[in-house]
Amino acid sequence: MCAFSAQSTRITIDSDRLSQELETLASFSDSPSPSVTRIVFSESDRRAREYVKGLCREAGLAIHEDAVGNTFARWNGERPEEAAIATGSHIDAIPNAGRYDGTVGVLSGLEAIRALKGCGFSPKRPIELLVFTSEEPTRFGIGCLGSRLLSGNRDPSVDEKLKDKGGLTLCEARKAAGFSSDLRQVLLPRGYYIHFLELHIEQGPLLEQEQLDIGVVTAIAAPASLRITVEGQGGHAGGVLMPGRRDALCAAAEIILAVESSAKSTGSHDTVGTVGVCDVFPAAVNSIPSRVRLEVDLRDIDEQRRETVFRLIRQQCDEISGLRSVGVQIEVVNADAPGECAPEIVDAIESACRTNQLRSRRMVSRAYHDSLFMSRIAPTGMIFIPCRDGVSHRPDEYASSDAISNGTRVLAHVLAELASK
Ligand SMILES: [Zn+2]
Repeated sequence: MCAFSAQSTRITIDSDRLSQELETLASFSDSPSPSVTRIVFSESDRRAREYVKGLCREAGLAIHEDAVGNTFARWNGERPEEAAIATGSHIDAIPNAGRYDGTVGVLSGLEAIRALKGCGFSPKRPIELLVFTSEEPTRFGIGCLGSRLLSGNRDPSVDEKLKDKGGLTLCEARKAAGFSSDLRQVLLPRGYYIHFLELHIEQGPLLEQEQLDIGVVTAIAAPASLRITVEGQGGHAGGVLMPGRRDALCAAAEIILAVESSAKSTGSHDTVGTVGVCDVFPAAVNSIPSRVRLEVDLRDIDEQRRETVFRLIRQQCDEISGLRSVGVQIEVVNADAPGECAPEIVDAIESACRTNQLRSRRMVSRAYHDSLFMSRIAPTGMIFIPCRDGVSHRPDEYASSDAISNGTRVLAHVLAELASK
């Protein structure tokens, strides 16, 4: 038995067991190894959920699931009535992804709990492991569906009607997967969690380049997505002479460059703007494009600055519309506010790194995670671990067993410290 003290306890992480479990979890996939495809509520997703729940039961945790399939595995502690500390991530994966995104946060959370149990630690507050439903937007078009609903970010009655490509609604899909209670009950009561922590692969190259073990996340960038529709005039590519044209694609090309220059204009590398979709109508070689639809992703950790970039894009769209006599319509698809990590958790992570002689740096999360929405309802922190070449969402995504083990040790220390209060 050891009484926990952040300075003295050696928490033993079973990295072989953790690697083995990551490998088994990766086997629940709709694409051949090493790629992983696990779309929410698919058969593979259901089997993966059963596997993780089985491991949690073996660890003595009490399981419950909500109406959208968010899964909670609870270690009650000495004062089960008090607000819990939670950790977790997601196990769904986009088509042809790797095996570490999200899964590391779930299984390392479980391993951290087992390690704390193993050294005789007794938490004062409950510790909960969370597996969020549908962090990836693949099936229903909205990322972080589970954590958005938990935190009250979305209207459940609207979300019930979200459809997948086959026309199945979220309501139908979740019920078919066995989650049939009222979606409005997913929203957590105020104060349910006192802290939330997520361990995740960096999905960027900085930690590896700087040979660091841990990234201590201070802020999470949030995306805004815009849909821009340009309406020009079509016509025969031979018949309509250049001076008379109102080519929607030429106007769209200028808008794409305006997105780039507007994002660059802030001078901050935390501002990024991308046009990832360009649909041309009628898309025939001998026809002048009459309509183009662009999808734009803008991200920043500073919401005001992101708004400034958005205004710049809007202004330039107006100018381009006037000069080229085309109609330009801008629709804001979503605009989430960025999230700040809680200073007390940032400090606790850094202190756990020092205790374990791990090298760390503070950094910003450029991808968004369930933590972004959890930060709206509880002080939140994120622990990043290095991944090879910063690669993610690809079959060659890789984090070493040592990197995962280091992150898990830090996670266990921080959970123990927070659960001791
Ligand atoms: Zn993820």
